[in-house]
Amino acid sequence: MKVETVKVYGEGAVGVESTSLDVGSDEVLVQVTRGGICGSDIHYYQHGGVGDFKLQHPMTLGHEVIGRVAETGQAVAINPSLPCGECSYCEAGHSNQCVDMQFFGSAMRNPHVNGGFSQYLSVKHSQIVPYDESISHDVMAFAEPLAVAIHAISQSGGVLGKKVLVTGCGPIGCLIIAACRAAGAIEVVGSDVSDRCRDIAAEMGADSSFSPIEGAPELYSQAKGYFDVSFEASGAIQAFHSCIDFTRAKGSLVLVGMRPGMVDFPLTKCLAKEINMSGSFRFTSEFKTAVKWLEAGKVKPLPLLTKVFPYQDIVEALKLAEDKNSAMKVQLSF
Ligand SMILES: [Zn+2]
Ligand SMILES: [Zn+2]
Repeated sequence: MKVETVKVYGEGAVGVESTSLDVGSDEVLVQVTRGGICGSDIHYYQHGGVGDFKLQHPMTLGHEVIGRVAETGQAVAINPSLPCGECSYCEAGHSNQCVDMQFFGSAMRNPHVNGGFSQYLSVKHSQIVPYDESISHDVMAFAEPLAVAIHAISQSGGVLGKKVLVTGCGPIGCLIIAACRAAGAIEVVGSDVSDRCRDIAAEMGADSSFSPIEGAPELYSQAKGYFDVSFEASGAIQAFHSCIDFTRAKGSLVLVGMRPGMVDFPLTKCLAKEINMSGSFRFTSEFKTAVKWLEAGKVKPLPLLTKVFPYQDIVEALKLAEDKNSAMKVQLSF
C-alpha cells in the first residue's frame, strides 16, 4: 500500500513523501493517529543528525506515536523500540541496552530505522500496547516521553518519601516532576532559567522552583546537600554542578539530559559525598507503565501540550517546536 510519511533529508530539509508499505506476516498494520515531536526530531531537522549519528540517507522522523490497529480499530500506543530479545542485555531485562536495537527514527544504525510519522505503520505485536480509547490522543501521545521519565525514576532507586530536585523543566523534566509526584516523593523542586518553564513545572506538580540565574535557597547546599535524589534533565553544565552541590551525601543523581562533548566536573566532591550517579537512557518495561499511568490519570500531561498540527504542516510544526521561548510539546495529527 501507498502511505504518506514525514521525511528528513538533511539539515533544514523535511517534507511529506509517499512511500510503499509492506506488512510482514508476523506484523500488525496500525493507522497512526498522533505523534509527538521530540528533541531528537528537531536535531535531525536542524543539524542533519543527533550527536555522533549523522543522516546517511533520508529517514522518516518520529518515535512518540499512537494509533489504531487497522483491522480491529483497537487504540494502541506504539513502543518505538524493537530489541533483539536474544543478546545478554535483553536476556537480563535491560532491553534498552540491546546491542542490536531497532529504534524508530534513529540514525544510530545503517541503514537507519524509519520513524513513526507515517499514515500507517507495520509493527511487531510486541510493540503495541492497547489502551482505553476514551483517553484523548493529546494525552496518550505522551506515553513514550513519560516512559523515559519513569525509567529515570527506576534508575534513581525510587523516590517514595524522598526530596527530589529536577534541573531542566522542559517536557522530560516536567514529566519526571509529575512522575515523582505520582511515585510518592514528599517534595519536588524544579529549576530552570525560563519563568514560563517553571510555571508549567508548578502545574505539573512541583512544590517550588528556582531560577539558577537568581540563585537557589541557601538551605539546599547546607549540611552536604538537601535532596535525596536529583535528576539532571537540562544538559546544561551549570545544572549538573547544582545537582552535585544540592544532593545530600549518599543521595542519588540521575543523568537524563544529553550533552555532546566533554564535561568538567568535581570528581572528588562526588566521591567524598558518596553520590550514586547513574545514567538513564530510554526505557524497558516502563513503556507499559506509562500507558497505564496516563489511562489512570496518575500523570496529567496536558499543561505540556503547546499545539497540534496536521502532519502536512511539518515545517511549521518544527519551527514552533524548536522555539524554546514558546513551545513545550508539539504534536502532529494523522
Ligand atoms: Zn522522544
Ligand atoms: Zn538484544
